[in-house]
Amino acid sequence: MPTHTITHVALHTVALPYVEPLKTSFGVEADKAAVLVELTLENGVTGWGECAVEIRPGYGAETIFTALHMLNNFLIPRLVGQPLSSPKDAAALLHGVREHHHTKSGLEAAVWDAWAKAEGKRLTDLFAEHVTPPTTSRGYAHVGVSIGIQPSAEATLAIIRKRLEQGYNRIKLKIAPGWDVELARAVRAKYPDINLMLDANSAYTLADAAHLKKLDEFNLMMIEQPLGYNDIYEHAALQAQLQTPICLDESVKSVSDLHLALELDACRILNLKPPRVGGFTASLAIYEVCVREGVPLWIGGLLETGVGRAANLAFAALPGVTLPCDISATDRYFAPDIVDPPFTINADSTITVPDGSGIGVEVQPDRLEAARAHWRSIVPYVEA
Ligand code: MG
Repeated sequence: MPTHTITHVALHTVALPYVEPLKTSFGVEADKAAVLVELTLENGVTGWGECAVEIRPGYGAETIFTALHMLNNFLIPRLVGQPLSSPKDAAALLHGVREHHHTKSGLEAAVWDAWAKAEGKRLTDLFAEHVTPPTTSRGYAHVGVSIGIQPSAEATLAIIRKRLEQGYNRIKLKIAPGWDVELARAVRAKYPDINLMLDANSAYTLADAAHLKKLDEFNLMMIEQPLGYNDIYEHAALQAQLQTPICLDESVKSVSDLHLALELDACRILNLKPPRVGGFTASLAIYEVCVREGVPLWIGGLLETGVGRAANLAFAALPGVTLPCDISATDRYFAPDIVDPPFTINADSTITVPDGSGIGVEVQPDRLEAARAHWRSIVPYVEA
């Protein structure tokens, strides 16, 4: 069993303008920001990870600034110089710090990437080896696309048409109160058979149950996280009233959350975002539960740059990930991204895992520097 020691960690705070501003129930964001982790092993091999944190608290509580604080003062010092006998050891060393899952996930992802590169294998194959029992990566992931809240149903229909033409065969629409039942009705009138799902990002309460029940007539794949971002109990009460399967996202932050949600029938489908649960070691544990219990599973995204996107794709290619994932082609969000090659969608709504070792994509130094400069240019507005 090889052992490795982390000798150095460099952090890069970056920002990239989105191709089009993204509107969800949280608000509108023009720029993607992230903390990228560049981690070096004793043998000189370098791995990359992305802390999927935001400029302002939104989907999660963590921000760029909390991530930098936790990494520099508490998390990196726990890893550097420690002998690791498995990439899973990193999560164990970070476990003593509670919460800060998105931040820990970026650091841990860099360990997984470096480990795979040191062994000369794809990250997806390293993940497959570390599943119990071991499995084999498919080498590609089924993917869909997420569409933000638009000014009108007509505008939404136009974007759906464009995405279907691009090859995506699963459409997810962000919804919020006042932008839900009639939107679904308009989409179903035009597209009665497409794979369609809705994501509420916790915009409703249990008092909306009768209204949400109206969505049952639209043959949706699922409704994602309709109620509170930490809630499991009320989702069970809602699921008892709905035919549409509830998919949990925000509320499942650990394997024990998943056990509780399954026991209560609060969650018939899981959207697993590796950053939300603290990284890939925790994700593998959750993956094993889903396979064992027959829970449909897909991998969600946090609009990651190519660094985080590549790691998510490596995980999404595992065979127990049974539903299309929110991993879009690069040009959906960034032009250009900071890595090469870009991710492109195949005609069958899949994305292929790149051949290279580790995450299989390379950070481009000139684009990294440009993204660091863009971050520095927007910081005054962020801090204002
Ligand atoms: Mg979601």
